[in-house]
Amino acid sequence: MTLLAVDRLTKRFGGVLAAKDVSFALNVGEMLAIIGPNGAGKSTTFNMVGGQLRPDGGRVTLAGQDVTGLPPRQVCRLGVGRTFQVAQTFLSFTVLGNVQMALIAHHRQTRRLLANAAAMHREAALALLDRVGMAAQAARPVGELAYGDVKRVELAIALAAAPRLLLMDEPTAGMAPAERAALMALVAGIARQEGIGVLFTEHDMDAVFAHADRILVLVRGEIIARGTPEEVRADPEVQRVYLGH
Ligand code: ADP
Ligand code: MG
Repeated sequence: MTLLAVDRLTKRFGGVLAAKDVSFALNVGEMLAIIGPNGAGKSTTFNMVGGQLRPDGGRVTLAGQDVTGLPPRQVCRLGVGRTFQVAQTFLSFTVLGNVQMALIAHHRQTRRLLANAAAMHREAALALLDRVGMAAQAARPVGELAYGDVKRVELAIALAAAPRLLLMDEPTAGMAPAERAALMALVAGIARQEGIGVLFTEHDMDAVFAHADRILVLVRGEIIARGTPEEVRADPEVQRVYLGH
């Protein structure tokens, strides 16, 4: 079942064609990777799907609904989640508090009700932390955590909005290889169990080939190859242009 359909998305920045006629579909529960060299247009494509950038041409359809050019808030309400950077978690708040706040925001509760709302969301927040392996650290301030654990909290925060689609632009940047593999395995497990679609980019090719169901190869704004990890790995054009063989 198609969750996300991207049809001929195009974006120019001055003389740079950052994305040219980018088309793909992503199914429910699928892990779809976009790979490509720096400047290939991966983030541009993510930002057009998430509403942070308005495309110059093309269409984005989420579960049959045209969401092209909608602002990020609205795209988020329709079920598209993103993992955010460290700065956007509240470092002095506890792990549990951060996830409770995310649940409060998702349920759009007012500040007047905050104390009650936090108590109300305690169980749900703990359940989310359990899913990402962080329940034991619920009471610690986020600022004290190891980098890989902050990433897990960010994943719990993204899941608090009950997304149908998760956009992850280099989620493991700055992480050690073992932490990276563990985070990607966790995301893949959640995606498959809960039917969440995941669109991700990743520099670590081992992580991509291990966890992507399908891969798109983007070079200078254009998709030059697509397929299963086996198909993409065997593609002579990919080996030449991207993998440097
Ligand atoms: P990637 O994420 O694959 O590294 P990007 O999507 O960030 O690539 O960038 C694609 C191209 O678009 C690059 O040439 C980049 O310099 C250019 N670009 C991206 N964002 C902007 C912007 N806001 N203004 C001008 N040029 C941009
Ligand atoms: Mg990028």
